[in-house]
Amino acid sequence: MSGDPFQVRFHSKLGVVIYDPLAQMGIAKEQMRLFKITSMSMTTFRRDIVSKDLGAGEPDVVEESAQAVDAYRTARAAKLKPYCTGCRRHFGSVDFSICMDCTAVRCTCGLCACVARKKKAA
Ligand SMILES: [Zn+2]
Ligand SMILES: [Zn+2]
Repeated sequence: MSGDPFQVRFHSKLGVVIYDPLAQMGIAKEQMRLFKITSMSMTTFRRDIVSKDLGAGEPDVVEESAQAVDAYRTARAAKLKPYCTGCRRHFGSVDFSICMDCTAVRCTCGLCACVARKKKAA
């Protein structure tokens, strides 16, 4: 699991989270954004509070989340545009989630690759 541009970490309350340097854009320096595997979505936290309980991922816990981390990796790599084509907000500053149907970034406005396709077809 080396070479990823993001870090898989373990938080005692949130579970497995992904710290992605790219997702830290447009937030205050006392804030930290983490991608929660349990909800498959990005959330903004207070850095001082969240970092207290942030540790290295235990191999077995990380193993259990491998599929979700894979989905994040795929969505990240497949992200053709760094902003939402629906609402034009930059994904670096939006608490986006990952759609498990199309393995793509889903914006807070609800747009993801499969939703966009359905809209086009309609
Ligand atoms: Zn959007
Ligand atoms: Zn989708």
